[in-house]
Amino acid sequence: KGDPRLEAISAAIRVVPNFPKKSFMFSRTGIMFQDITTLLLDHKAFKHTIDIFVDRYKDMQISVVAGVEARGFMFGPSIALAIGAKFVPLRKPGKLPGKVISESYELEYGHDRLEMHVDAVEPLERVIIIDDLVATGGTLSAAISLMESQGAEVVECACVIGLPEVKGQHKLKGKPLYVLVEPS
Ligand code: AMP
Repeated sequence: KGDPRLEAISAAIRVVPNFPKKSFMFSRTGIMFQDITTLLLDHKAFKHTIDIFVDRYKDMQISVVAGVEARGFMFGPSIALAIGAKFVPLRKPGKLPGKVISESYELEYGHDRLEMHVDAVEPLERVIIIDDLVATGGTLSAAISLMESQGAEVVECACVIGLPEVKGQHKLKGKPLYVLVEPS
C-alpha cells in the first residue's frame, strides 16, 4: 500500500468488459476480463511486478516457483531465475510428456484439470505458486494439491491481481495469498 509501483502496475492492466463472453448465466454483472498482456508491453510496470515478487521471496528459502498455465508462465520464470529457484510448469491436460499427476478443479460450468511431472519436485521443497489472477481460488487450490501430493510445502500463492468480490483465501487450503492489485 502506498507503493507508487503498484499504481503503475494497476494502470498497465487493460480491463476488457464482456470477454470472453458477455456474462455467466447466474452472475449479475458482466465479466471484466483483466488483460495482463498490456502489462507485459510496459517495460517499467512489468519490471516492477517482477521486482516486488523477487523482493518478497528472495530470502524465504524458496526452491520452486510453480506457474499455472498459461499466464503464470509469463511471470514465474523471471521470478525463479532471480531468486535462484527452479520453475515448474503446471499444465492443462495432455501437454506434459513424462509421468504426471493430475488434479481436477471446478469451473463455473464443468471442470478442468492441471497436471505436473511427478519428478519436478522433491518432498519438503519450499514452493510458491504463481498465476496472473485469483478469482474463486479453484485453480490455485488444484495447484496446491498437486504440490502437496508430492510432499512439497506450499509457502504462499502469489498473483498479480486479486478479484475482491471472491473469497479465494477460503479455498486455498489454508495457504497464504499475496496479491499486488485489486481492481475496484
Ligand atoms: P479461479 O480458479 O476462479 O481463481 O480463476 C483464476 C483463473 O481464471 C486464472 O488462471 C485467471 O487467469 C482466470 N481468470 C478468472 N477470472 C478472470 C478475469 N476476470 N480476467 C482474467 N482472467 C481471469
